[in-house]
Amino acid sequence: MTASSSPQIATRPPRNHAATPRASRPRGLYDLTLPELEERLVAAGYPAYRARQVWGWAYRQLVGDYAGMRNLPAALREELATTLPLDLLTPVRTLTADDGETIKTLYRTGDGQLLETVLMLYPDRATVCVSCQVGCAVGCAFCATGLMGLTRNLSAGEMVAQVASAMREARQRGRALTNVVMMGMGEPLQNYAETLRFIRIIHDLDGLGLGARRITVSTSGIVPRIEALAEEALPVNLAVSLHAPNDELRSRLVPINQRYPIAALLEAVDDYIEKTGRRVSFEYALMRGINDSEEIARELAALLRGRLCHVNIIPLNPVDVLPYERPDPAGIERFANTLRAAGIPTTVRYSRGLDIDAACGQLRAKEEAARQAS
Ligand code: SAH
Ligand code: SF4
Repeated sequence: MTASSSPQIATRPPRNHAATPRASRPRGLYDLTLPELEERLVAAGYPAYRARQVWGWAYRQLVGDYAGMRNLPAALREELATTLPLDLLTPVRTLTADDGETIKTLYRTGDGQLLETVLMLYPDRATVCVSCQVGCAVGCAFCATGLMGLTRNLSAGEMVAQVASAMREARQRGRALTNVVMMGMGEPLQNYAETLRFIRIIHDLDGLGLGARRITVSTSGIVPRIEALAEEALPVNLAVSLHAPNDELRSRLVPINQRYPIAALLEAVDDYIEKTGRRVSFEYALMRGINDSEEIARELAALLRGRLCHVNIIPLNPVDVLPYERPDPAGIERFANTLRAAGIPTTVRYSRGLDIDAACGQLRAKEEAARQAS
């Protein structure tokens, strides 16, 4: 029997396997680095300086369509509009909260996927929270995005488009975007190649020029990728979503812990600190009766003592269909103070935009539910 006549066995990849749903590349201008754009334009017969012009329009002027790139020949503008579109994301809805200081945008991708981006304006900085996947395969117990499973990775360009839009939004308000955090939907280190490409594009000094120290990658703890990131000579801030000081509890909250338990995670974190010289932050979503006792605070302090790190407590944003609750303010302060008394630098980060479902994945979840109901 030849291979072609053998019965076909449907081998569907597992739906939630992180490596399977790849984003094909490039989708648009934002997916390319400047050298790649130069190469493409030169190959198409244009002088290399045209690439720098396009780059300047896209990233310095933040022009959102080729028609606005006035000093380019019309033929080039048309060619770029069809081969390297700029409109990778279409805004579906924008909501504001916190007296207009939190702006959340729901976008639709070219293939109809929904994703979220949040711009947060503070007195001293403006931060955009970027999504890197549609859904997420990790499935943390308390997370709205985790409930969806993974639909697909976003391409680097779809991430850059979120930052470019946030920059426009900030500029319209007379502000400059200063920080990028990968704390929206998805697990950046399970979309490693596109995440790295994204960081390199927004880091490029000829473009947005966001310094590595202004970029934060948040991860649920994909150990081999933390090790790889430490080797990239790109000392971005690393935030590790710890949420529990022991494997028994952490495996319940963050299932990837079964594969990469705390000891292995902390070894990778120590390696990251040593190689980059950067202070790592541990995120800790505080949940009433789950991970908020004095005893657990002391266990956490003992676990982290001696590291160049700090703990960021995020009082839980309750998700409608999940049973987890936020402790009361006194409980939150007590937990934070126990850590501080034990010598662990600790901050409490109240999420912005609670009334607009700004927590990761919540707005998209509602939009999907409404779409299914209609
Ligand atoms: N996947 C990455 C980054 C996105 S989530 C990660 O898990 O680190 C960004 C942060 O928000 C993570 O620390 C995550 O655990 C936390 N988070 C998710 N859902 C939350 C919720 N309902 N309330 C508070 N924090 C939440
Ligand atoms: Fe994924 Fe992060 Fe949500 Fe966990 S918390 S399910 S890793 S997005």
